[in-house]
Amino acid sequence: MSLLSSILDHNEQFVTSKHYERFQTTKFPNKRVVILTCMDTRLLELLPAALNVKNGDAKIIKNAGAVISHPFGSIMRSILVGIYELQADEVMVVGHHGCGMTGLEASSVLKKAEANGVDMKTIETLEFSGVDIKSFLTGFDKVEDNVQHSVRMIKHHPLLPKHVPVHGLVICPDTGKLDLLVDGYQTTTT
Ligand SMILES: [Zn+2]
Repeated sequence: MSLLSSILDHNEQFVTSKHYERFQTTKFPNKRVVILTCMDTRLLELLPAALNVKNGDAKIIKNAGAVISHPFGSIMRSILVGIYELQADEVMVVGHHGCGMTGLEASSVLKKAEANGVDMKTIETLEFSGVDIKSFLTGFDKVEDNVQHSVRMIKHHPLLPKHVPVHGLVICPDTGKLDLLVDGYQTTTT
């Protein structure tokens, strides 16, 4: 059975037996927070449990590394929508140790792309058109630096209200222990 079929089978059961009932809530986050974190599989349930965040409590945005690559990209837009349209009034960036984006090099990704049939001429054409493939596919050296960078990007965004605190933390993917890097309450101007 394919993954898709098994998911659809499970889903039918889930809906008919009304297992959804315990998840019912609204689109507004009870804890009024937007959390930007990594897509790492180890954090799927660990992070909400370690932060005591339940269904309905928070807006959680995920990508590889909790990276904000562009001030006007989809991550920053999601944070702003969370604040202005969905009643969040704090932001939390949570990176983690052992992140796949630590030390990621474009050359390694491109080698795998080539092995999977991507024509290297395509890469050349993209670069010729002004796409910076190297920085697009490069991770970060230290998770702490990346969290600080994301916090700065959010905090200094021209559309972010000044009173919104932006916190920076690093979580351990084994124990769920949080280390506080940036206390947004200390850096907020009211
Ligand atoms: Zn990660």
